[in-house]
Amino acid sequence: MISEFDPWHSKLCTCPPKLTFNPYTGCDHTCIYCYATSYVPKFYTCRPKKDLIPKLRREAVKLKGEIVSIANSSDPYPNLEAKTGLMRKCLQILSQSNCKVQIITKSNLVTRDTDLLKKTPSTVSLTITTDNDETAKTIEPHAPPSTARLEAAETLIAHGIPTSVRIDPIIPFLNDNPQQLIKTIAAIGIKHVTGSTYKAKPDNWQRLNEALPKTAEKLKPLYFEKGEKTGRYIYLPKELRFELMKNIRALADKHGLKFGTCREGLSHLNTASCDGSWLLGAST
Ligand code: SF4
Repeated sequence: MISEFDPWHSKLCTCPPKLTFNPYTGCDHTCIYCYATSYVPKFYTCRPKKDLIPKLRREAVKLKGEIVSIANSSDPYPNLEAKTGLMRKCLQILSQSNCKVQIITKSNLVTRDTDLLKKTPSTVSLTITTDNDETAKTIEPHAPPSTARLEAAETLIAHGIPTSVRIDPIIPFLNDNPQQLIKTIAAIGIKHVTGSTYKAKPDNWQRLNEALPKTAEKLKPLYFEKGEKTGRYIYLPKELRFELMKNIRALADKHGLKFGTCREGLSHLNTASCDGSWLLGAST
């Protein structure tokens, strides 16, 4: 259930050593750009992991203070979680174990569990791709609106839980200049922002084309003529990625936030550990 994060030790990943687990297989937020849909069958049909709770109980007793990142292939707070409460049960187990918790989510449901997050060293990374609810609805149809995620960030910080924001993915012509978003999150008390650009894969590109045909038309040459094939992804050209990330770094610097890039090959722009895990143990 709990395994090493990035066991392949990808050159592009600059995360500190950590463990990871996913309470669910699949995710019902149905983001059009989702990468996991290409390797997990029926990904948008969210289902709990088999024997989740007994397995986690057995494995959690063996933890020795590691960071456990939840989750990296699916959201730990899908809409289904409101009914099952399984993530809450997982946190109950982890709060009695020797570990630090890093949560990565798009859902304001995480605020339900502030009591448990306060019991163990924890940090939450909220993915907020845009401050425009309408844009969010187009690209993340069943995830909570951006405004709800911003309110969740405020609530977490009010409870003393260090919180960072991921602007991921950044899609040129859509959400590539998050000037106002960074100003807003800085005012809330966010201390770290992570940026990452959209990487095209056949299935997510098809969904992007259907949802945003005009944007896709402009993106096409950037990805399919000038882009860079990296593994099974097509990246934007490096110069453009550099410009986009440099802009976010400048905005972060201006507002006193630390900054990290995720899987861009641009880690020299980072001013703290890319995933915001430096916030573990910090008080807001
Ligand atoms: S929240 Fe994450 S895992 Fe869920 S559909 Fe969106 S990108 Fe995929």
